Amino acid sequence: MSLNTQILVAAIIGIAFGFLLNLYPDTAFFQHSLYGLGIISSIFIGLLKMLLIPLIFSSIVVGVSNLQASGQFGRVWKITALCCLTTTTLALILGIGCAHLFGVGKGMDIGIFSEAMSNHQSPDTLSPSTFFTNFIQNTLINPFKAFSDGNVLAVVVFALFIGAALIKGGDRFQSVRVLSLQFFDIMMMLVGWVMKLAPLGILALLAKLIATEDVKILNSLAEFALVVTGTTIFHGAVVLPLLLWIFGKMNPITFFKGTRLALITAFATSSSSATMPLSMKCAQENLKVRPQTAGFVIPLGTQLNMDGTALYEAAAALFIANLVGMDLTLTQQLIVCLTAMIASLGAPGIPSAGMVTMIMVLQSVGLPAEAIAILLPIDRILDTVRTVVNVQGDMMISVVVDRYAKSDSIETS
Ligand code: ASP
Repeated sequence: MSLNTQILVAAIIGIAFGFLLNLYPDTAFFQHSLYGLGIISSIFIGLLKMLLIPLIFSSIVVGVSNLQASGQFGRVWKITALCCLTTTTLALILGIGCAHLFGVGKGMDIGIFSEAMSNHQSPDTLSPSTFFTNFIQNTLINPFKAFSDGNVLAVVVFALFIGAALIKGGDRFQSVRVLSLQFFDIMMMLVGWVMKLAPLGILALLAKLIATEDVKILNSLAEFALVVTGTTIFHGAVVLPLLLWIFGKMNPITFFKGTRLALITAFATSSSSATMPLSMKCAQENLKVRPQTAGFVIPLGTQLNMDGTALYEAAAALFIANLVGMDLTLTQQLIVCLTAMIASLGAPGIPSAGMVTMIMVLQSVGLPAEAIAILLPIDRILDTVRTVVNVQGDMMISVVVDRYAKSDSIETS
């Protein structure tokens, strides 16, 4: 069986086993299985996290210096930013549009959530300006602290600086450049080893997720969950593939086949950061994106490009507004979109990160921050699909950017 098939089979078995466990919640069988699944999933996630920071650092350093050497850095940088902005804007329009179309939350009784809301500790105010200040303060920090805390954004920034210095120093830093390249190759080799564990890890993660989810709560918010999930899937299955086809000249089926491993891992882990090592491997080996492009675009996209999260936050803000009976004006909806975009830039690629930055979106138009208490119980489930789209967007952009950068290098050579 190929690795891809093993992963599909493992995902199906995991979900089925999760449902089985859900039927016997208070038994020893449930407890023992959960313990075993917990160990396996911790090993898998732990290994991915172990590789994440060294991989991000080395891939950006190598990516920047190689891109600059081939004279493509400026172009790659601009196309990446343009792609991220375009796809996130489309995601936001879809999120707001579908929430309007289906009138999510309209006519629902907020009373049934009052207990959850009153029990919820109201978080500190998170205005866009404090968010921005925090963002800077968390980014320009001691790199060793950033490495040990797993602060992806700060590592990305530091790596960009080192990459720039390597270019400026030219031959003087040749040995460091070779060292970074070899270190990066070693990291990719380790990723290859971890991939062998992926089927087992995914099985355990999915079984655990389903077994511990309270399906009853999902029912009360089923309409909202369905609309958001449906819209996110539409973005991932129609909008992004269409853009890929037009601008990346790649058949979406080839894309999905090549990225299956990363997409299923994103679904199972709900973390684009944990999935990043696999996204990079899939982009390079299966989609044939050149290592310098994938090495630059994917780590950056993992932190900054989150279509699924942006879509979710915009739709959820509208849902809450409808629930509390507040009609958002057009300007307020624009503010929601803008804040959701900033929030998705700042959200780290970890489970439920979008829920934290969601507070900022709600507060931007005066919606009650406590209302996230309504969404929290279903967030882990919704997070699975939005993380898939987040990861998909990064790999798709790497294909598009690589194509344009390649055509540029052919023209100039
Ligand atoms: N879990 C998402 C990710 O890792 C972030 C979010 O919560 O929206 O991409």
